[in-house]
Amino acid sequence: MNFTTRFAPSPTGPLHLGHAYSAILAHDLARAARGRFLLRIEDIDRTRARPEWEQQIYDDLSWLGLAWDEDPLRQSDRQDVYRAGLQDLWSRGLLYGCRCTRRDIADAVTAPQEGAEPPHGPDGLIYPGTCRHRTPREGANPPEGMALRLDMAAALKSLPTPLAGFTETGPLGELPGRHVPVPADELISGVGDIVLSRKDFLGSYHLSVVLDDAAQKITHVVRGADLYDATQIHILLQALLGISTPTYLHHRLIRDENGRRLAKRDDARAIATYRAEGLTPTDIRLKVGL
Ligand code: GLU
Repeated sequence: MNFTTRFAPSPTGPLHLGHAYSAILAHDLARAARGRFLLRIEDIDRTRARPEWEQQIYDDLSWLGLAWDEDPLRQSDRQDVYRAGLQDLWSRGLLYGCRCTRRDIADAVTAPQEGAEPPHGPDGLIYPGTCRHRTPREGANPPEGMALRLDMAAALKSLPTPLAGFTETGPLGELPGRHVPVPADELISGVGDIVLSRKDFLGSYHLSVVLDDAAQKITHVVRGADLYDATQIHILLQALLGISTPTYLHHRLIRDENGRRLAKRDDARAIATYRAEGLTPTDIRLKVGL
């Protein structure tokens, strides 16, 4: 398949140096492979996404000289696809409704082992399973007005073969790369029953990223090392939904002088700020070590 990669920012703040690094890396790999570089606007959380940040993404990428090869895919246009994915998992008995608040979960996991650090997974505290057998799983459609969680043990049991894992390439996309297994017991103990649809919006990062990468026919996912632990969830969802697994490249993170990972609030390192100060796209490349 033709090498296809993507940059998938959320329009919830300005793009900073870390985003620039991710976008340039993905873009340059696609160009070197004579493949495609696509853009996806991850605006699934409508409460946080803003049109002005989306426009800023287009402006910043264009200024950096990064052209994308198709119209951007916007998650806010894909509700039907996420609904169908959830419906599929629901009808196989792999989802359940959950009414727990963050506080309920924190209380439930800290109570029995006072003092000990409760286990965390890629999405924070590992869900203790409070609603797993509490909310009914009957009915043609998933319940509304509450979160939907994946029953991890049931999901793994439903797979005809063990998970094949994934390939992690070197920092320059060199293949054959490294095979990373995704063991079922680690998904149960280290990930647990994750949320696949939120109370406040349909779907979740994990569900949409898997369905969107498939829709955009992504062969190589280039993204920050902060998402490495989430990849095992994506491998599982691909297996459950009959989607093929792309190759992954989790790149180093750009940090500030104190070693902290850059965040959206780091306006000082926003691309737009550097641009206003008169830096060039080449300066940005040098700043991120490219
Ligand atoms: N939207 C995510 C972010 O801005 C990236 C998702 C991904 O690359 O899988 O951090």
